[in-house]
Amino acid sequence: MSTQNKLGLETQIIRTQVERTEFQEHSVPLYLTSSFIFEDAEDMRASFAEDKERNLYSRFSNPNTSEFVEKICIMEGAEDGFAFATGMAAVYGTLATLLNAGDHIVSVGSVFGSTHTLFTKYFPKWNIQTTYFDVNHPEEIESKIQENTKILYVESPTNPAVDILDLEYLGKIAKKHKLIFVVDNCFATPYLQNPIQFGADLVIHSATKLIDGQGRVLGGVTVGRSDLIREIYLFSRNTGPALSPFNAWVLSKSLENLPVRIEKHCENALKVAEFLENHPNVASVKYPFLKSHPQYEVAKRQMKLGGNIVAFEIKGGIEAGRQFLDKIKLCSLSANLGDTRSIVTHPASTTHSKLTEEERLAVSITDGLVRISVGLETVRDVIADLDQALNQV
Ligand SMILES: *Cc1c(COP(=O)(O)O)cnc(C)c1O
Repeated sequence: MSTQNKLGLETQIIRTQVERTEFQEHSVPLYLTSSFIFEDAEDMRASFAEDKERNLYSRFSNPNTSEFVEKICIMEGAEDGFAFATGMAAVYGTLATLLNAGDHIVSVGSVFGSTHTLFTKYFPKWNIQTTYFDVNHPEEIESKIQENTKILYVESPTNPAVDILDLEYLGKIAKKHKLIFVVDNCFATPYLQNPIQFGADLVIHSATKLIDGQGRVLGGVTVGRSDLIREIYLFSRNTGPALSPFNAWVLSKSLENLPVRIEKHCENALKVAEFLENHPNVASVKYPFLKSHPQYEVAKRQMKLGGNIVAFEIKGGIEAGRQFLDKIKLCSLSANLGDTRSIVTHPASTTHSKLTEEERLAVSITDGLVRISVGLETVRDVIADLDQALNQV
C-alpha cells in the first residue's frame, strides 16, 4: 500500500491503492481468490505465526478489502479497521467481540431496526442487557449507566427522524465512566463527520448506503482503536463475516468519488428541505442544516454538511402519509437509502407499523413522518414530484 500523507483528503482516497503488479495496471485489479500461496515451509510457518504481515486466506484479509479499509481509516482518522459483509455484520461482530455475558449497553433508543432487534431479542440470550436513552434527553445517560455497563452506543443523525446527538458531550461521558464509545456513522458518512475526533473508540458504517451510493452491493466496516480492532479481527477471522473481495473492490472505487457525490447529495437535500418548509401541507421539516432543527448548532459543529436525509411531518397523519406514497411518481418507494435515486418512505405505515403508537413516539416516529433519501437526480425534478404528490393529499 502506498499512503501519501499530508496530501488533500480526496487525493489520499484516490491515490491509496494496492501495489501495482508487473502488468502495470492503472486501475486496481480484482483479487478474486479465496487463498494465497507460500514460498516454502518457513514462509508458511512465519505467516501463520504472524511473524510477517501478509494475506493468507480471504476470510482473514485480501488486498481489495485491505485497500477499502485503509481508505476508510484515512477518512475517519482511525488507527485500524476490519471490513464486514454487511453493516449488520459489522454491528454484530464488533459488539460480540467486546461484550461478555453479564455486560450492559447504554444506547440511544432510535437505533437502526436490526440493531434494535439484536439488543432486545438476541443479546438477552447471553445475558447482555441494553438500556435506551431518549435522543432528546441525553442528560439522562449518566443515570442509566450501571456498574456492568461496557458500551455507549449511538447513531447520529438518527434514523428515520434525523435527530442529532452531541458527540463531544457523549465522548466525555464515555471517558468519565470508562465506557467503549461506539458510533454508527452511517447517515453522516466518513466525509461529513468523524466521531473519533469527539472521543469515539470505534466507528461503524453500513457501506451498503452512501459509501456504495448506487444501491449495488452490501458491505460494512468498523474502524478505530487498534487494540480493539485487533480483537475484532481475531473474532471475525474465526467466525467468518468477512467482506467479499468483489464488494470491497466496488466499494473502494466508490470512495474515490464519495466527496463529490456527498457534496451534491447535501446540496440537493438542503434544497428539498427548504422547499418542504414552505409547503402548506407540511407541518414541520427536520434537516440538520436547517436553522429550525432543534440541534442545528450541534450539527454545524460536528458535521461538514447536513447529509442527504430529510424528514418531514405531513399534515393529516397516517392516511395522508399513505396517500402521499401512492401519488409519488419519480422517487422510489424503497427501504434502502443513500442511493443516486431519491427514495421516500413512510415509517408509521411500513417499517414501524408493528409498533404501538407509544413505542413509535418514543423513537420520534410520528404518524405523518415521511423520510426522504435525496438522490442525485436534477433536484427540481425531485421537488416537482414531491410537490405534485403533496398537492394531492
Ligand atoms: C442500513 C443500516 C445498517 C445495516 O446495514 P446493512 O448493510 O443493511 O446490513 C446499520 N445501521 C444503519 C444506521 C443503517 O442505516
